[in-house]
Amino acid sequence: MDFSLTPEERQIRDTVRSFIEKEVMPLEPEVLRNERAGRPGLTPDVLRDLRAKARKSGFWGINTPEEYGGAALGPIMSAIIAMEIGRTFVPFSFGGSADNILYAGTDEQKQRYLLPTIEGERRSCFAITEPGAGSDARNIRTRATQDGAEWIINGEKTFITGGNEADFVMVFAVTEPHGVTCFLVDRDMGWKSEPIHTMGEWGPASLVFQDVRVPEENILGELGKGFELAMQWIGQGRYMIPARAIGSAERMLGMAVEYAKIRKSMGQTISNYQAIQWMIADSQVEIEAAKWLTLYAAWRVSAGMDARHASSIAKLNGAIMANQVVDRVLQIHGGMGYTKELPIERWYRELRLLRIFEGTDEIQRRTIARNLIKGHARLGLIGE
Ligand SMILES: Cc1cc2nc3c(=O)[nH]c(=O)nc-3n(C[C@H](O)[C@H](O)[C@H](O)COP(=O)(O)OP(=O)(O)OC[C@H]3O[C@@H](n4cnc5c(N)ncnc54)[C@H](O)[C@@H]3O)c2cc1C
Repeated sequence: MDFSLTPEERQIRDTVRSFIEKEVMPLEPEVLRNERAGRPGLTPDVLRDLRAKARKSGFWGINTPEEYGGAALGPIMSAIIAMEIGRTFVPFSFGGSADNILYAGTDEQKQRYLLPTIEGERRSCFAITEPGAGSDARNIRTRATQDGAEWIINGEKTFITGGNEADFVMVFAVTEPHGVTCFLVDRDMGWKSEPIHTMGEWGPASLVFQDVRVPEENILGELGKGFELAMQWIGQGRYMIPARAIGSAERMLGMAVEYAKIRKSMGQTISNYQAIQWMIADSQVEIEAAKWLTLYAAWRVSAGMDARHASSIAKLNGAIMANQVVDRVLQIHGGMGYTKELPIERWYRELRLLRIFEGTDEIQRRTIARNLIKGHARLGLIGE
């Protein structure tokens, strides 16, 4: 068993780390100022410039196949890069990627949706959740009915990330008697969006479809096979959620260690107190555990193995870890941790989402337990 990175992988990791430290972290005070004034943390221009700089250094389409101009670095490097990006709260990601299910499109759909999304010219959103169907995604009520060469969509979606900014949506609708189907629907076909305000610094949107007419050729994949596509979208990158959180947790733990070394109470620095040391130690143990569970899930994906069970374990563990670590880091900073002078409260609010979206804690536990009970996963395996 070998946990080391190859020299090339190490070089990629170090280059990303230095890019984040030199180009992205210096924007943190500006992001905080903007957000506190009710503006987006980064303007689209700044984000475009940052991505252009990153592209020059070769960081474009981290997980995008080479034939589409991407770097195709694979799941393990994608997870490691997400850990590096997670060290900053600046809302940044490398450009050049698109939703995995867009690769299931026809050649024409690829031209109209996939390629412009990779180039950053178009923005997508993924819409399955509805007011009456979140964890219970099979209960969606949005309907598409056929009318000649068109489908007419009616229904409402909620909590859709990027839904207020996207110019097309991958929307899932019931197409009786053919189950659920995924449609590519341009905004100018008539759907409307409304932002939803959340405790985080960015908000999803609700989408309304009222007699929205969509041409037949905009079905993504096969009629009635939409649910499989939805699960492919959600399942593919589940390990990426804890990956980013690991970077955030490590950065914050570093802040807590530094603060504990200088903050004095009752004649000593608080780093001398066991109560503080235990919070530091427990946090590092949990971060390390999350790191290796996440990399294991990514390794299974890269080896072409079924990674669903491992990804559920990594996502559940990583989401809980991040929330525990940010809570301890805030506690170690005392009153300062609770202020908006420091970014800890921002992370505290943002990381809370990880226990809810892309499968809540409870749904991950349900999946893990059911896999064991039904024999889809076995105990006592190593590296199999
Ligand atoms: C900021 C944000 C962004 C999002 N982005 C998207 C997006 O881009 N696209 C999209 O389609 N959706 C998106 N979602 C929706 C997200 O996936 C759902 O919120 C999530 O799946 C939970 O569904 P729900 O909110 O309806 O909660 P519910 O399903 O109503 O759950 C309520 C509570 O009951 C528990 N529960 C539910 N069923 C069970 C069960 N069988 N056993 C035990 N406990 C159960 C849940 O764990 C939870 O604690 C987003 C949500 C948020 C908050």
